[in-house]
Amino acid sequence: MIVLGIETSCDETAAAVVTDAREIRADVVLSQLDDHTPYGGVVPEIAARAHLEHLDGLIRRAMSEAGIGFGDLDAVAATGGPGLIGGVIVGVMTAKAIAAARGLPFVAVNHLEGHALTARLTDNVAFPYLLLLVSGGHCQLLAVEGVGRYRRLGTTIDDAVGEAFDKTAKLLGLGYPGGPLVEKAAARATNPARFELPRPMLGRPGCDFSFSGLKTAVRRHVEELGVLSGGILSDADRDDLAAAFQATVAEVLADRCARAIRRFKEDHPQGGALVVAGGVAANRAIRSRLSTLAETHRMPFVAPPLRLCTDNAAMIAWAGIERFRMGESDPLNFAPRPRWPLDPNAAPVIGRAG
Ligand code: ATP
Ligand code: MG
Ligand code: FE
Repeated sequence: MIVLGIETSCDETAAAVVTDAREIRADVVLSQLDDHTPYGGVVPEIAARAHLEHLDGLIRRAMSEAGIGFGDLDAVAATGGPGLIGGVIVGVMTAKAIAAARGLPFVAVNHLEGHALTARLTDNVAFPYLLLLVSGGHCQLLAVEGVGRYRRLGTTIDDAVGEAFDKTAKLLGLGYPGGPLVEKAAARATNPARFELPRPMLGRPGCDFSFSGLKTAVRRHVEELGVLSGGILSDADRDDLAAAFQATVAEVLADRCARAIRRFKEDHPQGGALVVAGGVAANRAIRSRLSTLAETHRMPFVAPPLRLCTDNAAMIAWAGIERFRMGESDPLNFAPRPRWPLDPNAAPVIGRAG
């Protein structure tokens, strides 16, 4: 089985060709970074136009790298949500057009399910597993019991963790997107223990997260340091603060995961792996902290390769394969979904989208 995947939910335009033998035959990603950098964040309208301009070319490139024609495909999968709706519409319309023209099945993939199932593409992980999904828009702990079967154990009550990285980077004058820049600054820190930041939710019952207080604490330090040094943050201040922020996030994530592991093991005495996914899973300090945690609890730890943590279309093609081989596909009148929680039964969190 061979499937074309399309991803357009945020600021990466991507196309990939993947087989059910877990072979990535092509995987092309075009970042729109330069288009959005002047605005310090993703501008939905600019994103949608850029997807429209580049998607056809990227699909052609993926197909030629895979060495196949549309006639060789078994299905076409595209992100159907959640995400910036203009971009999602571009991807879904393109996938539907190919499916209609070639008489192929169309699979609308939940972008979050793409992140969630990546570990089964890269590492053949079996169900059930405990997933920490940490991305630009989400921070959740989920028991993954099967394709389309997710039980949310915890979520953020305010900012997503990637969002916290991005906002912190902005406060530190590091630019956008913040995650990789904060990680680099933290690695340069000469005194990473200099600042102590609050550890939101640490030790509290449940598995929920909160990051807005942490971001506020960084802002307060920046303001104090800025005043002392005549308005400019020195490189050393910036790097030490980045290190403090990253270490605090890693500790909070590990604390919440430790609680979720206990609950997961109660429900699944046969065990399972600890899996991390989403853009923030590319962070080496966080990966290493979670790997130690998994070892303590005698659980296998799986983190996909860095380039499959951030947005890509291989994960969309793969999630399409997982659904399609269970006999699922979607009608050509599928409507793109700006919101699409993985666990529809989870209680809504005030002010957040699942
Ligand atoms: P979602 O998947 O929730 O819809 P998204 O698709 O925008 O959101 P991803 O592409 O999965 O998010 O992840 C992007 C986020 O990951 C950004 O917030 C970015 O700062 C963060 N990120 C990327 N690399 C790193 C890193 N090395 N360290 C920390 N954060 C990182
Ligand atoms: Mg992105
Ligand atoms: Fe994503």
